Amino acid sequence: MKHHSTRDLQSLDEAHHLHPFTDHASLLPDQRRVITRGEGVWLWDSDGNRLLDGMAGLWCAQIGHGRREIADTVHAQMTELSYYNTFFKTTHEPVVHLSAMLAELMPSNINKVFFGTSGSDSNDTALRVVRTYWDLKGRPEKKTIISRQNAYHGSTVAAASLGGMEKMHAQSGMPIPGITHIAQPYWFGEADGMDPSEFGIQTARELEREIDRLGEDKVAAFIAEPIQGAGGVIIPPETYWPEIRRILSEREILFISDEVICGFGRTGSWFGCQTYGTEPDLITMAKGMSSGYLPIAGVGISDDVCEVLNAGGEFFHGYTYSGHPACCAAAIANLQIMRREKLVERVATDIGPYLKERWLALQSHPLIGEARMKGLLGALELVPDKTDLTKRFDEPGKVGEILRDISFKNGLVMRAVRDSLILAPPLTITHGEVDQLIDLVTATLEEGEAVLRKEKILA
Ligand SMILES: *Cc1c(COP(=O)(O)O)cnc(C)c1O
Repeated sequence: MKHHSTRDLQSLDEAHHLHPFTDHASLLPDQRRVITRGEGVWLWDSDGNRLLDGMAGLWCAQIGHGRREIADTVHAQMTELSYYNTFFKTTHEPVVHLSAMLAELMPSNINKVFFGTSGSDSNDTALRVVRTYWDLKGRPEKKTIISRQNAYHGSTVAAASLGGMEKMHAQSGMPIPGITHIAQPYWFGEADGMDPSEFGIQTARELEREIDRLGEDKVAAFIAEPIQGAGGVIIPPETYWPEIRRILSEREILFISDEVICGFGRTGSWFGCQTYGTEPDLITMAKGMSSGYLPIAGVGISDDVCEVLNAGGEFFHGYTYSGHPACCAAAIANLQIMRREKLVERVATDIGPYLKERWLALQSHPLIGEARMKGLLGALELVPDKTDLTKRFDEPGKVGEILRDISFKNGLVMRAVRDSLILAPPLTITHGEVDQLIDLVTATLEEGEAVLRKEKILA
């Protein structure tokens, strides 16, 4: 790679690069941070600043950055077979091995995987699988997918429609027909004083009411993330999933668990459905599958659904890069590292509980209305008045962004969702690094409080 100055890179970026989910009018050239290197939980920028990556890239770098083993495995694979497709009665070793490895990790009723390259395309695939399933069963009227408000299922037209993001739906033509959205189990934001257990049950029962409103004979599937990620790390009350499970067990409706964030150890099990004891028919996965080293994704499909699908002749669907050998090799090496280093167990019994204890203690800070964490997924709700948790800041999102920018400046990457701060570090984070992380969050809260007072956002 040619080495340019930071300023040159920023102006070339400004001239030619359109960033995802970005307001370009307000992104000044000198605000474009150039990331140059990653190792473990650390990132470096082109000015030599070191950052603790509290978001694991975009919720994906389970094993941390810059592991040579992955690069070497991919190098060897590319030297042997850089690419071949899996369409026309062909297969290859990496895709075979990865499929078998995933079958071992997925719930016991799910033993086959259809590959893609992103969480979005996996959810497209899932939508088409469930509708095709009901068509083949002679029930073509079972088409509607029930999803949830403020869900994130990706950014293709189908995935954005499945998702419940208002601003994406405001783009013309979305959501596509045949998808409805029920309430989310967001206790801090929407419970209106109801106690968490009761709120979990009542919110779950929205699914029952929606099925009845639509007619069970019209509903193909329910799709949900075990914990909503991009929606703001919405950890449902413990009563929510058992009640959803009860409802689904009484109804003839497929369940798609979107494991793009919760999969691969994030919640302390290989998949979030295992943490919460739900029984999906399909699971969609991406991000942590390769720890982001190369793009790969997939849909795990249950034996029952596969049987119907495979008896129905050709399924007219596939991607050029379904099961790309180099990406499969990266995923295999990633899973081997995760197993060898017992990263999933570590989240459940060691680093997860340690970070959680320290994270929840931040609740005592005057700016924090709620600190929550499950596995290595956390959120801090920022509030203007701790004595009245129903109060919110006047201009939603502004305080979150201010604090996020302070955190970044101080050397910790967190993400802001509304007025909350989100955390999802690599699963390899050490105890010492957790201590550093908590120090950086504390410093950010202190500095943030001072800035908010100065700007008269806080009294
Ligand atoms: C990121 C994400 C997606 C979309 O994945 P892409 O690889 O960005 O297409 C889907 N679902 C969830 C839960 C996600 O977090």
